[in-house]
Amino acid sequence: MPALQSNPGDNARAGSFDAVVVGAGFAGMYMLYRLRGLGFSVRVYEHGDDVGGTWYWNRYPGARCDVESMQYSYSFSDELQQEWDWSERYAPQPEILKYANHVADRFDLRRDIQFSTRVESAVFDERANRWSVTTSDGHTVTAQFVILATGCLSNARMPDIKGLSGFKGKVYHTGHWPHEPVDFTGQRVGVIGTGSSGIQSVPVIAEQADHLTVFQRTANFSIPARNLPLTDEERQAFRQNYREIRRFAREEARNGIYTDMPDRGALDDGGNERRERYEARWSRGGLTFMSVYNNLALDKAANDTAADFVRQKIAEIVEDPETARLLQPTSHPIGTKRICIDSDYYAAFNRPNVTLVDIKANPIEEIVPTGVRAGDKLYEVDALVLATGFDAMTGSVAKIDITGRQARTLNQKWAEGPRTYLGLMSNGFPNLFLITGPGSPSVLSNMIVSIEQHVDWIAHCAAYMREHGCETMEANRDAEDTWVAHVNDVAHGTLYPQANSWYMGANIPGKPRIFMPYIGGVGQYRQICNDVAAKGYEGFTMTAAERSKKAAVS
Ligand code: NAP
Repeated sequence: MPALQSNPGDNARAGSFDAVVVGAGFAGMYMLYRLRGLGFSVRVYEHGDDVGGTWYWNRYPGARCDVESMQYSYSFSDELQQEWDWSERYAPQPEILKYANHVADRFDLRRDIQFSTRVESAVFDERANRWSVTTSDGHTVTAQFVILATGCLSNARMPDIKGLSGFKGKVYHTGHWPHEPVDFTGQRVGVIGTGSSGIQSVPVIAEQADHLTVFQRTANFSIPARNLPLTDEERQAFRQNYREIRRFAREEARNGIYTDMPDRGALDDGGNERRERYEARWSRGGLTFMSVYNNLALDKAANDTAADFVRQKIAEIVEDPETARLLQPTSHPIGTKRICIDSDYYAAFNRPNVTLVDIKANPIEEIVPTGVRAGDKLYEVDALVLATGFDAMTGSVAKIDITGRQARTLNQKWAEGPRTYLGLMSNGFPNLFLITGPGSPSVLSNMIVSIEQHVDWIAHCAAYMREHGCETMEANRDAEDTWVAHVNDVAHGTLYPQANSWYMGANIPGKPRIFMPYIGGVGQYRQICNDVAAKGYEGFTMTAAERSKKAAVS
């Protein structure tokens, strides 16, 4: 029986809620906290058997956040941010999961979360102006609001490789890692995929495995994390300045991360000075490498200077020149695929037990029971790790059968790519909110900053509707069209669309190629959302209870 320790009111006991929230990751947990604080009845459904979302599923060796832990944390409770001790500059996955559990306990969230339960469908009833939500345990509840806190990187993608099901060893996907320990000692392991997950797991698996073969289709840029234990002084420095750090991350930073803002372009400096700046950032480590200059995402010549610097670093670290050459990315401008943050990734290829296989030049032909065949050669392995990524941003939403007005499904509407107003709502689907949906900064930002902004906005909006006697809210078609065009225009003013990235849906065969996240920056985006709310939710239509009933009846 799915766990639920709820103490619902009469309506909730009868299966009727103000809001159903899908997912109990960082977004779902905070949404529950906010709505509950406003007196709404809420039921959260979570497929996993505990909280944590992406950090619940991604337990692969070496998994850790690429945003610094003091910043990858909730800001809504000062007590929480003052009392929680992060142990390292970048928190490892088990610690982030522990933090998620701490939050769930501290704010008594579990009593409204039903675990081990998938939301299968949500159907909007135009007469009642309510959603009917059916779950994997066969129950149906109704709610005024449905809020999708389903995560951008939750839908692990199994690659379609011939023979995979016939492999006789164990197959693991990084995004769906087992809960029990996996021990590769004495084994020959193959890792397919060299995005963030592969790049984090390779050095750790290499230490354990007898032999590790890394199958690389596209080389990626990776910057050293320079992870270290945090000292008390470092934690204190953050805690004392949290007010300003959080303000800056929300309002001024493009990516929701407190850091120095670049004041010049890469070509404004001479070669020596530029190199010094890149060296300083490389030594500091982490995502801020890309904010050393203000035009790396805009100007190819500027971008080339950073890309060349990293390629040179790879050549210096990797001893075998041919392996170094293969590891040097050439297919896309640096940063246009999510930049990776690693701990000794390139150095791992100097180990005698690690081999790199170029599957761009020699594609995988098939997986046979004993290994992987590529370029007419058999690489024998005992276990396979698929670090092949996710059906990002829309994949988890698409798995739910969502039917809006006039029996139209969201999957039908989004067949040519996701369409939203502000990444928050989609026309034809009243009272259905997305947290960090396509069309919002989401994956281009510190996710927790973006999650908190969306949750606060949705919570205010729900309270506003209650106060004004409104029953439904819906994105207007023209506002949505204008927003989609704007998201597109901003993206095409940058180098991002030049990469075959999951931002573009390019990793999923047949998925429409559309740049999904909003690249305008979290500060600017927050301002737009605030302005929309201040103008009485401009671009949305809210319908008062009586009016909407009449409209539905007539
Ligand atoms: P990813 O970036 O999509 O990388 C998937 C890798 O698998 C790519 O190298 C891809 O090659 C390869 N691949 C996919 N299908 C393949 C096939 N059929 N045959 C051979 N190779 C195949 O996925 P990810 O590494 O899981 O990362 C996804 C995102 O999750 C990251 O970009 C990041 O935003 C997030 N993440 C964050 C962290 C963190 O915070 N530290 C850690 C992990 C993930 P191609 O490039 O050629 O398609």
